[in-house]
Amino acid sequence: MPQLLLGLLFAIIIAFLARRARSLSRSGAYAAVLVGTLIFGLGGWQWAIILLTFFISSSALTRLFGKRKAALNEKFEKGGQRDAAQVLANGAVASLFAGLHFFFPAAAWPWLAFAASMAAVNADTWATELGVLNPTPPRLITNGKPVDRGTSGAISFYGTLSALAGAALIAILAAVLDPHVQPSLITYRFLLITFAGIAGALFDSLLGATVQAIYHCPKCDKETERHPVHTCGMETVQIRGWKWLNNDMVNLACAVVGAALGMILS
Ligand SMILES: [Zn+2]
Repeated sequence: MPQLLLGLLFAIIIAFLARRARSLSRSGAYAAVLVGTLIFGLGGWQWAIILLTFFISSSALTRLFGKRKAALNEKFEKGGQRDAAQVLANGAVASLFAGLHFFFPAAAWPWLAFAASMAAVNADTWATELGVLNPTPPRLITNGKPVDRGTSGAISFYGTLSALAGAALIAILAAVLDPHVQPSLITYRFLLITFAGIAGALFDSLLGATVQAIYHCPKCDKETERHPVHTCGMETVQIRGWKWLNNDMVNLACAVVGAALGMILS
């Protein structure tokens, strides 16, 4: 119980700082307190380090090259401040496995699934934030055709490299900080979590290119994730995908795939 209270205190401080830095909306800050309390309170400090690595690096990368990204804002469903749905899409699976660790403290799989889900969302966020800097237009993951920057389901060299780096950073921390660490398994665990992270991020792109709900702005004549209104104020019209499968659901799927692979391969 004291650890849950400590987790709550710690999560409130982080959410407060993130709110001041405008990285979280009000609802996002509440969701971050919930996720942070569960992960630190039920997992432990090792879990908190992984969560913070994701949170701080993603928030920092969102700010980087802001001018070059401003033009892409119209494509993405949401702006720079993460709201509750975004925080939960990235953190719900991780929180679940922190809870499972609490009930099965001797088992190694909750940590691996947790770390792999964080590696997946970190890979995906890094790829989104840094992939837009690729010098040439990205290509759709399904047919390789060049598309506009910021298009859902598009991949690029920079983006893929960033996904690899994002997954590897979480993986190396997770392999070393593993509460059940066995030195002989560190390299294997590093490779496993990196692989699960990349696979989750690629699955995210695959959904983005196929079944994610995508809209069209008749005024700007552009494809966008934004609904019901575009950045220009015009109502957007759905042109493909499943209506319920928005960007948050796709991110949740990315976390689920990462965790599932982490569990299966452990
Ligand atoms: Zn528009």
